[in-house]
Amino acid sequence: MIIPEVLEVLRCPIDPKREAKLIIEDNVRLMCGRCHVQFKIREGFPSLLTEEAILPEGSDNLRELPCHPTRQHS
Ligand SMILES: [Zn+2]
Repeated sequence: MIIPEVLEVLRCPIDPKREAKLIIEDNVRLMCGRCHVQFKIREGFPSLLTEEAILPEGSDNLRELPCHPTRQHS
């Protein structure tokens, strides 16, 4: 289990501004509220490595996600 205080400070690792929050999915995955990329939780610890990211349906590259720096304007 991930404690809520920890979840509160975690951010999408693809987002360079660290603004996109992660939400818990089925207690076994974390999902970015913005780009919907998912990360597995292993023994209570989220694996936030982009190499292990589970891409949302319809995407085959991290660069296509709205959190990716090349997708952010301003
Ligand atoms: Zn994201």
